[in-house]
Amino acid sequence: MVRKTTDGMSAWFGMFPLSTFGDGRCYIVPGMGNTGVFETDEGLVIFDVPIKQYAHKTFNQIRQLTNKPVKYIIYSHGHFDHAFGYGPFIEEIKKKGWDMPEVIAHENCIKRFEKYRTLDKYHDWINKQQFASVRGKEQESLVSAHETLDPTIILRGNEDSYSFKLGKVDFEIYHDKGETDDSIWLWVPEKKAICSGDLMVSSFPNIGNPYKVQRYPKDWAIAMERMRDKNAEYLVPGHGRLIEGKEKVKDILSITAEAMNFVHDEVVKRLNEGKWFEQIYYEMLEIFPEKFKKHDILRPIYGCYRFAIHATYRLYHGWYNSGNPTDLFPAKTDDIAREFLKLNSEEKYLEHAKKLFSEGKRQLALHVLDIVVKGTDEKNVETLVEALKLKVKILKEKVKNEPSFIAGNIIGNAAYQIKERLKELKKNLN
Ligand SMILES: [Zn+2]
Repeated sequence: MVRKTTDGMSAWFGMFPLSTFGDGRCYIVPGMGNTGVFETDEGLVIFDVPIKQYAHKTFNQIRQLTNKPVKYIIYSHGHFDHAFGYGPFIEEIKKKGWDMPEVIAHENCIKRFEKYRTLDKYHDWINKQQFASVRGKEQESLVSAHETLDPTIILRGNEDSYSFKLGKVDFEIYHDKGETDDSIWLWVPEKKAICSGDLMVSSFPNIGNPYKVQRYPKDWAIAMERMRDKNAEYLVPGHGRLIEGKEKVKDILSITAEAMNFVHDEVVKRLNEGKWFEQIYYEMLEIFPEKFKKHDILRPIYGCYRFAIHATYRLYHGWYNSGNPTDLFPAKTDDIAREFLKLNSEEKYLEHAKKLFSEGKRQLALHVLDIVVKGTDEKNVETLVEALKLKVKILKEKVKNEPSFIAGNIIGNAAYQIKERLKELKKNLN
């Protein structure tokens, strides 16, 4: 299913023009993700390289601006869209006989590359779902980590900073946790510029991503506050357009810190009150402040607040999240559905699901419909087809109304899978 790309998401994917900022020797090269470039008399400092498939585009754009050699490459973190599009830069260095650049990363970035090598097929599988709406099925894997350009300067443990000078310009690097445990960000005092990596993605932070490992709300807030205290005039985000102006940069970092502190502290408060996930989740939805809802930088275009509640809960709690022992070692959902179908016919459930749908109760309709989808014998193809068709219809409506790219893709991809199943089932009907 092709999902319409919103303006926010097209910027997230780097669909905006390259821009020059500061003294005219700083650049944001748009891509997935962005590359920050600082030109000095002795060469270039490059903050992040994009995903492999964007590498030539980013490289060519930089080479239209300057011929200076690349001296430093900094990885904000080891995700595929920030540390893998180095190919053309290294080819050029070898061809011209220049010295290899220093590559700066946190030690957890190296562990991340190792993890990707262990789990490559799995990551390909989940990323195909997360980016379902923008990927052709036949595209090569975006996420192979079997070839990497490994760091030569490594920030270790909680050691939180590293500085260097190039062409009389000072560069300061800091480590904080946030979207990942290997995040680093760059402060260039002379240019009044910060490169944040994915600590800032021009959306509500990508925390609590349903497919991905634990992320860190409190540390994220701390990172935002440390950046804010630099009084930067320019902020190069990991995704999205350059953020310009002292007040604007400050406001964006402050509100994001505030939102991360809010979601963290309010979930913690409820954990301390002995509440289970469902209660915490729905209470959190009720109290989400208007000022966060309205702020442009916290729009749920990629990540969203609903996911962030999960992230905080899982930071401190295991997977038994209902407090109902029925859920500790549950029966198979298909078996449960079959028992419900013994009490009432498929038709009754279908009819009720349709009624709920017509009343706008899409989520409840899905729960009721799943009794038919999961419990009906495949021999009862006609009923199953009808139920699946309704499920696709409901999911499509949900996609249309879903602001989060990630949530929309999860739902849209499921609708696509059901449609494929329907094609098979219909063959049996004919
Ligand atoms: Zn990214």
